[in-house]
Amino acid sequence: MRMTVLASGSKGNSTVIASAQTRLLVDAGLSGRELFKRMKLADEDPAALDAILITHEHQDHIAGLATLARRLRIPVFLTEPTHRAWVRMVTPRTTMTYAQWLDHLQQERESRAAAAPPTTESGAPSQTASTSAVRSNTTELGAPCLDSETWDTHAIEPDPDPEEDEPAAKPHPSYLPQVEYFHAGANFSIGDISITPFTIPHDAADPCGFVFESRSEQVRMAIATDLGYMPPNVKSALKRVDVLLLESNHDLDMLRDGPYPWPVKQRVLSRVGHLSNHATAEFLARDYDGGATWIVLGHLSEANNAPELALLSAEQALGHRRTLLGNRILLAQQSAPLAPLCL
Ligand SMILES: [Zn+2]
Ligand SMILES: [Zn+2]
Repeated sequence: MRMTVLASGSKGNSTVIASAQTRLLVDAGLSGRELFKRMKLADEDPAALDAILITHEHQDHIAGLATLARRLRIPVFLTEPTHRAWVRMVTPRTTMTYAQWLDHLQQERESRAAAAPPTTESGAPSQTASTSAVRSNTTELGAPCLDSETWDTHAIEPDPDPEEDEPAAKPHPSYLPQVEYFHAGANFSIGDISITPFTIPHDAADPCGFVFESRSEQVRMAIATDLGYMPPNVKSALKRVDVLLLESNHDLDMLRDGPYPWPVKQRVLSRVGHLSNHATAEFLARDYDGGATWIVLGHLSEANNAPELALLSAEQALGHRRTLLGNRILLAQQSAPLAPLCL
């Protein structure tokens, strides 16, 4: 089994998990073009991917999702709330001022009048037409139903036929060739990889981490980034893993003194933000079972962390448990893929 971290950090996350028979891409947080470039650099064939799994709908996890899924024509696995949140994010919305809305109504009236059959009655009193126009005006202005299409101009285009190789019309931004839902806590399989998604505390619709297990190779790999703290369900999901990609997002002092505005600092520090080096070290020292061959520290903040600090903190927490064969620590990179970790 193999884990290849293509990118990790607040500017984009993506990791390949592969067994002998199955290849999965977890998150697609770089542009499609950059993801293809990273896969080439890491010697991962995009055409061999079987599916894309999404942890949550933040931009650094989904930026290249639509491009990749459409180009490769592979299914996307995510939770229904994450899918809904993503669809809302990518669907373009336009807003109207009240004056624009009145103009819009006027244009509609004019086009309806132009399409209406001409009056056959000769010499119809002009008063009738005028009264009718006033009445129509009153009705439309008197009942500005805010849920009507007149008000909300955001247009839903029909999805193109998924059977078509090249859809003739430009697809809707939320079009994906195939969507599969999973639920946190409910195990499912893709090919010979068994997947257990677990809920993580983060400010997204339904964020998840994953444990991947190759039944034939008896290896377990986990991804746990983007979490505000380590709740009991995450601690127990991360038992008996051989490779652990774990968040070590920020140094507390650097974040406090750093460039972010205070509300952003509060968000990062919150129970639905990101794990600090300190919180990660605390988990490694107190709750981690010590059984992994590799621990990959990921989602490091460029502004509020230094790789040396994250590394030092994890090394100290692991203490004497670090050996040539176990608990080796690696730092995932934002700008380049890591060498594949094979077990
Ligand atoms: Zn996030
Ligand atoms: Zn993230």
